Amino acid sequence: MTPTALLVTKHQKHEVIAPAFAQIGWEVQTAVADTDALGTFAGDVPRRFTPLETARRKALLGSTLGPAQWLLASEGSISTSPIGVARDIELVVAVDPTLRTTIVGSASLLGIHSVRFEVDRTTTDDEIVEHCREADLPRHHLLVVPSDRSIAPLGGLASVESVLEICHRLKRRKSSLVIQTDFRAHLCPSRQAVIASAAEDLVARLARICPNCDRPGFGEETPILGLPCRSCGQPTKEPKAHRDSCPWCEFEVLQWFDQENADSIHCEECNP
Ligand SMILES: [Zn+2]
Ligand SMILES: [Zn+2]
Repeated sequence: MTPTALLVTKHQKHEVIAPAFAQIGWEVQTAVADTDALGTFAGDVPRRFTPLETARRKALLGSTLGPAQWLLASEGSISTSPIGVARDIELVVAVDPTLRTTIVGSASLLGIHSVRFEVDRTTTDDEIVEHCREADLPRHHLLVVPSDRSIAPLGGLASVESVLEICHRLKRRKSSLVIQTDFRAHLCPSRQAVIASAAEDLVARLARICPNCDRPGFGEETPILGLPCRSCGQPTKEPKAHRDSCPWCEFEVLQWFDQENADSIHCEECNP
């Protein structure tokens, strides 16, 4: 029997996620649900849970939306490094609707396309146009968020003209405006590539069968730290092994690394 999966999404992720599952013969259908209720990139709806818990809750929204053997959903988080480079971490999860077991695929990319600038009453049109040059319009889109959150963010802006029009309209207000990349998946091609990689990772995970219970998704890898320092022998924060475990049963396997000790640059004793 063909496994069927219901992908719960508001932002048209089917064409990004379904191809990975087609390789293993899964038919993926879409269920539209208001996943924004669990938090948005614009920040107008705060995220209350970890990215993994958010992805799981999104998938479980599908349990009332139709029969399926698996519920799928994805969740991304974008952070900015101290030197201003944006990192995107994407999770795609498959949740068993009955037992609620969750199998996770992930991918990350440092250097995702991202801009952010502030506009207030003193900002000129030329300055706004200059900032927009960095925004990769119209391939990526922009989002305008009033700093005082007095109105909902206005996103999906694909031209400089539309950004200027909104700035003119809102500039009379006291609040400044934050203009940033619109990270919603259907408008953000640099995220789409990372989501597709996370879906591939999930498919690879599903192909690993637990040697104990025969169910898919074996190999949740947890690193075990403490590889001894080559100079002083103290445990470092480098991994000495990783633990592969089953998301369904208690079975786990320890995989020891060949490397017997860590370079002293990783040692807090030798290199504090
Ligand atoms: Zn198992
Ligand atoms: Zn040492």
